[in-house]
Amino acid sequence: MKTVSACDLTPYNSYRIPAQCETAYFPDTIEDVLTLATQTLRDRPYVLLGSGHNVILARTQYRTPFVIFNGHMDWIRVRNTQIETGAGAFTKNLCEVAAAHHLSGLEVFYDIPSSMGGAVVMNAGGHGEEMAERIARITYLDVPAAAIRECDAAGAEMTYRNSRFQNQSTCIVLAVELTLTPGDPAAIREKMERIKAERWAKQPREFPNAGSVFKRPDGRFVGPMIDELKLKGLQVAGFRVSPKHGGFIERTGPGTGRDLLTLIQTIQERVYNAYAIELEIEQRVIDVA
Ligand SMILES: Cc1cc2nc3c(=O)[nH]c(=O)nc-3n(C[C@H](O)[C@H](O)[C@H](O)COP(=O)(O)OP(=O)(O)OC[C@H]3O[C@@H](n4cnc5c(N)ncnc54)[C@H](O)[C@@H]3O)c2cc1C
Repeated sequence: MKTVSACDLTPYNSYRIPAQCETAYFPDTIEDVLTLATQTLRDRPYVLLGSGHNVILARTQYRTPFVIFNGHMDWIRVRNTQIETGAGAFTKNLCEVAAAHHLSGLEVFYDIPSSMGGAVVMNAGGHGEEMAERIARITYLDVPAAAIRECDAAGAEMTYRNSRFQNQSTCIVLAVELTLTPGDPAAIREKMERIKAERWAKQPREFPNAGSVFKRPDGRFVGPMIDELKLKGLQVAGFRVSPKHGGFIERTGPGTGRDLLTLIQTIQERVYNAYAIELEIEQRVIDVA
């Protein structure tokens, strides 16, 4: 297991917010995670990161250690129509493997940048599909009990962009088993590429961002409200509401997580004043010391 002191977190958050933590651990195996959670970091707070595509680093310095899965614990095993992956496997790689085995069901995830642990915790999804629908089994570490347990999507309480694993201090996702269906390889590839092209046409991929900032409120869409309020282009330091997609904030220059949170709060206030709707942040704010 790699351990890095004074770890630069810039490459591990998709906003590319510059930040540093005193120590970062990159576990390679389930045993590494067990050792970290029950011995090295026992009774200490720590931050878990998958591939960092849905986080806001609110601080520039963290004394709290980070445990980073990004590209580690990334095994992918195919057995008939089941695929088992480690928590650190990237969704893109998983989709490539599924397509190579003529397995359908993951096409919408091809362009959702994520680790598999993050995809479960956030119940990632799009185009009317979500990760919960593909899950056969989640293997996780119940930290207080120091026990490795299993559950299905219902047991993980996976709802819209949510799961009980968002209470990150008590559970760490270790591995995921998915159930897919046999499909036509050309159709699988066509769906992956078509959805990717649609998304790239609408989303500001040329600037660092972390996807939709807010959860969709009941019965409304965030983008049109931001459009109506003429908030596109609104800027705090190097962060601005994307002129291309009002639900995204993109980083166009220097700025800290605090600047980003100021911009988010301004949007929330403007939306509340106009529509009496409280926008909930989808992205996970990391604000421990
Ligand atoms: C351009 C772009 C487009 C996007 N489009 C979509 C979209 O269409 N749909 C969608 O749902 N999302 C989208 N997102 C957001 C993001 O891709 C998803 O939320 C993704 O699932 C985050 O996974 P991650 O591994 O990066 O998680 P991270 O950002 O690293 O972490 C997210 C949360 O999960 C926790 N966590 C991570 N790994 C574990 C683990 N193993 N065990 C316990 N907790 C863990 C973290 O502590 C954190 O609280 C987009 C992001 C970008 C940048």
